[in-house]
Amino acid sequence: MYYPFSWFKNIAKLAALLLLVLMIGAYFDNTLLAWAGFMTALVVTNYWRLFQLNRWLWYSKKMTPPHAKGVLGNIYDGIYYSQRRARNKRKQLGLLIRRFREGSEALPDAVVVVDDQGHIFWCNRLARLELGLKWPEDSGRRLDNLIRHPKFVAFFNAGNFERPVEIPSPTNVDKTFEYRVMPYGENHYLFIARDVTQISQLEQMRKDFVANVSHELRTPLTVLTGYLEMFKGQVDMPPALLSKAHSEMASQATRMQNLVEELLTLSRIEASSERVYEKTVDVPKLLKAIETETLSLNKTKQHTIRFNIDNNLLVLGVETELRSAFSNLIFNAINYTPNGGEIVVDWHNLPDGARFSVRDNGDGIAPEHLNRLTERFYRVDKARSRKTGGSGLGLSIVKHVLSHHNSKLDIASRVSEGSEFSFVFKADMTVNRD
Ligand code: ADP
Repeated sequence: MYYPFSWFKNIAKLAALLLLVLMIGAYFDNTLLAWAGFMTALVVTNYWRLFQLNRWLWYSKKMTPPHAKGVLGNIYDGIYYSQRRARNKRKQLGLLIRRFREGSEALPDAVVVVDDQGHIFWCNRLARLELGLKWPEDSGRRLDNLIRHPKFVAFFNAGNFERPVEIPSPTNVDKTFEYRVMPYGENHYLFIARDVTQISQLEQMRKDFVANVSHELRTPLTVLTGYLEMFKGQVDMPPALLSKAHSEMASQATRMQNLVEELLTLSRIEASSERVYEKTVDVPKLLKAIETETLSLNKTKQHTIRFNIDNNLLVLGVETELRSAFSNLIFNAINYTPNGGEIVVDWHNLPDGARFSVRDNGDGIAPEHLNRLTERFYRVDKARSRKTGGSGLGLSIVKHVLSHHNSKLDIASRVSEGSEFSFVFKADMTVNRD
């Protein structure tokens, strides 16, 4: 705000006052005394106003300055208005900083600002929660003294921030963070830590998957190429050797075929967009067909297999997927139970839905394997599973089918007593035949 100040008016006022004093002095015949008195009054008034100004500036809580006229009044007003302007600017700045902080608090990543010496300048809420920083206690401390992972310390001190690094979280070893650093302003650095646990797990799964598939295919291929090498240039081969080679090559080819088929089934189920609530599956009929298939499989194993089926219990679902789940569990029980075992397949209604179970009295599975059985290619005994033609994908397929049908596999097993694999379809998925 602009306040006009007239020097001329003020000097004229002072001169008029002085003239008046001189005239009064002349009237009383003592101009010197009048002059001295006027000057003293002027000095005292000015001192008094300066004193008031000082008190207002340093001690008063009031915003408005003391009242004064003339030059000092103008000075008071000037100070008042510049103070008010500064206060408004401070308010705006505070508001801006608050908005910025709120914005960075809402970021889905942990953010830490450090200076060129690595001293923490500021950090957001996620940095406190995920990186374990304390605020304001850690303000001014070196970041590499607080995040002590050797990979982070090396990255921090190398000063080459072109590429991000992935490092386990300092507060939770199961989490992985990707650190990115952006220089900004004058020698300040913005550390952004993003939780990439899921991405790195997926990446690891992808790598494991490719490695597993290659490994699974390499073994039968080695056998096949071995025999092919043996045949090279051989015209007459002993019939016994030829027949052994033929049966071995056929079995390895079947193994590869099974593997590829199971991989395709798995990827089809994973990508399946078929709605499970649209078609009714005749489970008793499906189980009857599987029962017929078990007859030939059971010829060498000689198990006693019982099918206790509720013939009226149907479910909503995808038939091909359910067939795959049922047969995998039943064939596993046949394959992994020592000859002459007992297997019971149950399909009946419970108050909370339709329950399917396959129980065997085989060797059982040790508790440490139970949680991992549905992982792709996980096998308790690799050599034995390969002998049965297993690819290690069966239970993984079952898991995906069940998750597509809003159910989950339950495995109960005791070593040397047997195992039970079961699941329940929710009551709203069951259909009665009548
Ligand atoms: P595979 O194709 O090797 O049979 P699965 O995913 O179907 O793979 O099964 C994983 C592993 O679980 C098998 O290798 C086997 O060790 C174990 N398993 C599955 N079913 C049974 C069972 N009924 N009894 C004992 N072990 C079983």
